[in-house]
Amino acid sequence: MADSTLAPLPSPQAIAERILAGERDALDGATLTRYLAGEGDLWELMAAADRLRRARFGDSVHLCSIVNAKRGGCPEDCGFCAQSRRYNTGVEPERFLEPAAIVDASARAGEVGSSALGLVTATRGLEDGSRALAQIVAGVRAVRDAGHTEAHASLGFVSRDALAELKEAGLTELNHNLESGRAFFSKIVSTHTYDARIQTIRDAQALGLRTCVGGIFGMGEAPEDRAELALELRALDVDEVPLNFLVDVEGTPLAGREPLEPRAMLRIIAAFRLALPRQNIFLAAGRHHLGQLLPLMFSAGASGMMIGDFLTTPNRTVDDDLELLEMLGLQAQVCGAPRPELAAEPRPAARARAEVASARHLPVVA
Ligand code: SF4
Repeated sequence: MADSTLAPLPSPQAIAERILAGERDALDGATLTRYLAGEGDLWELMAAADRLRRARFGDSVHLCSIVNAKRGGCPEDCGFCAQSRRYNTGVEPERFLEPAAIVDASARAGEVGSSALGLVTATRGLEDGSRALAQIVAGVRAVRDAGHTEAHASLGFVSRDALAELKEAGLTELNHNLESGRAFFSKIVSTHTYDARIQTIRDAQALGLRTCVGGIFGMGEAPEDRAELALELRALDVDEVPLNFLVDVEGTPLAGREPLEPRAMLRIIAAFRLALPRQNIFLAAGRHHLGQLLPLMFSAGASGMMIGDFLTTPNRTVDDDLELLEMLGLQAQVCGAPRPELAAEPRPAARARAEVASARHLPVVA
């Protein structure tokens, strides 16, 4: 129930109007947190989000795929992850995939309309000069040369030199998720820091790589944590934002958690669209939790989805996803393609940082 001591909740349509008029950051942290906490009508929120999605992306959707280039055995302790060697999840560690197998995955991804294949390694990172880095560089180069898709990667921590080497081999985009807001992150990961992740993202941006940075919802985080993540992504000005919904894995600390309700998922997608009107927001793991409401993810503001096999969790079939897009009249578009800009107003970095800091001190409505 709404707290009567709070200011009236700004209307999502009014915020969308301001964004479309050039005020990209019209959604402030307090209002974002209230939307995420359940205040306001979901359909109104979705209508405003859909308006922004259509203004920027029209009838196009971004499809991307991933391949597990190094499965299992990761030394880190991310509490949601089936590939940590600290948890008994039944995922057996495997060797790095050979470039030929990675190119096969890229060809399969390209056939179904994916514009990019993300090479994912279950590693803390890749050391400069290591054999592991050389293998991934070879895989990236092979994908680039084969020409089926772009080569993206999610490798954990990599130095600036390694990123430069990967870029030279053909890498166009780096994925490095923040998972949640800063405060909640430390409750689910203890083996590395939020700031270390942010540094890797900044290093990639400094080299001119596009960045793909998102999070996971349904881990027990509060609305403030979700708002904090959205504002952090806005401050970083990342390019793509994957939204994942927890698929609990037996053996991990987060096993047994109930999935979020579909309407709660739609609310998160819509609130993120209003917070991040420029970014390609796409749904990845756990989108099947939307059940019958799955097609509404686009009306809620999603502009893309990950298609094909996930790393360790289930996904819908490619045929089902392609049929859905056809029925909705949506077309696949390459990532990084030119899109209409929404906002001309440059955003002062100091204001963005202040918003991130303030997200934790906001009134929350139950
Ligand atoms: S660093 Fe990546 S692969 Fe390793 S435990 Fe964390 S999420 Fe899993």
